Amino acid sequence: MQHKNPKALNLIRFVSVDNMMKTVLDIGIEKTIAGVAAQIEHDFKRWELFDKTPRLASHSALGVIELMPTSDGTVYGFKYVNGHPKNTKEGLQTVTAFGVLSDVDTGYPVLLSEMTILTAIRTAATSAMAAKYLAPAGARCMAMIGNGAQSEFQAMAFKTLLGIDSLRLYDIDARATDKCAANLAERGFGIIKCTSAKEAVEGAQIITTCTADKQYATILTDDMVRPGVHVNAIGGDCPGKTELQRDILLRADIFVEYAPQTRIEGDIQQLPQDHPVTELWEVMTGAAKGRTSGEQITVFDGVGFAIEDFSALRYLNDQLDATGRFESLDMIADPDEPRDLWGMVMRAAHTVVKAA
Ligand code: NAD
Repeated sequence: MQHKNPKALNLIRFVSVDNMMKTVLDIGIEKTIAGVAAQIEHDFKRWELFDKTPRLASHSALGVIELMPTSDGTVYGFKYVNGHPKNTKEGLQTVTAFGVLSDVDTGYPVLLSEMTILTAIRTAATSAMAAKYLAPAGARCMAMIGNGAQSEFQAMAFKTLLGIDSLRLYDIDARATDKCAANLAERGFGIIKCTSAKEAVEGAQIITTCTADKQYATILTDDMVRPGVHVNAIGGDCPGKTELQRDILLRADIFVEYAPQTRIEGDIQQLPQDHPVTELWEVMTGAAKGRTSGEQITVFDGVGFAIEDFSALRYLNDQLDATGRFESLDMIADPDEPRDLWGMVMRAAHTVVKAA
């Protein structure tokens, strides 16, 4: 990842919300999801190269703010992300994010991007990519419990990567279900709006839970999960925040992104620390098995891991040459004489107009 203009190291690429939306629309949502998924899979297959650490979380009574760093030795990236389930009641997003990529050799940042939209894309891409290895062959029908900001992206990723064309939607707030159904109406799905989670899971081969609640919630009870089903559980992603009844986990084979982080944040926080889980990269590289039988229950306990954000930012950065959808941001103080930072500030006195 090179700076385009080595004489302008102070200028980094900035992708605003507006430019992110235009980028996604230029490329097309399906192609964007598929591109991000391919980059994540590529990076998961070189897992050993990355710095890995559970994310750094700052919890408060109402939510969490997290930093998610990683590096492959050439490029460094991090994401800032929050999770505040009560926000939507105040007209705010539950999850917002931005991220940075830097050049490891110089330490200089090269890209600053909005990541609220990109997080929804990378989360959906990760879920669908995991399901490629774990869902029953030929799955066409998915139940989606929790029809908020992530839901349409999840649906589109499962359509793009797995061919899911039948959706059974449920949310405790019927307006969220109506919104999700309306947004997906022209996207080639058969959609059934359900009035309970129990009704939603009927006949579904894949169950996605993407609810937001700051508690040990029970979105799925044991009796709702038939043999052979794949559960894509992405809403339980903080200490004290889960979606699945513990008994489901005890019957299932559990797959995670990075076990040390998921044991703190995922649904498996309900299990002993040594309960066996498989990391996705092991399945992708063939080091471990994914789905092995038609009767097996598989659970992807997705919490979101830094490498997925790194991959999504890499994908985005690679698109920018063609799309041109970025601005240059004067972000790094970079004097001509590196040790004359003082001089650079003082010389600016000639050009700075005093604020009134
Ligand atoms: P959102 O607030 O936009 O939507 C959540 C929806 O869940 C709301 O419509 C709400 O009414 C519904 N809900 C809450 N409790 C429910 C219940 N008991 N049954 C059915 N529906 C219920 O949030 P979002 O941005 O869509 O995110 C959803 C969850 O996914 C959040 O918990 C978020 O932290 C998590 N998330 C995880 C990842 C990841 O990588 N794993 C990434 C992004 C978001």
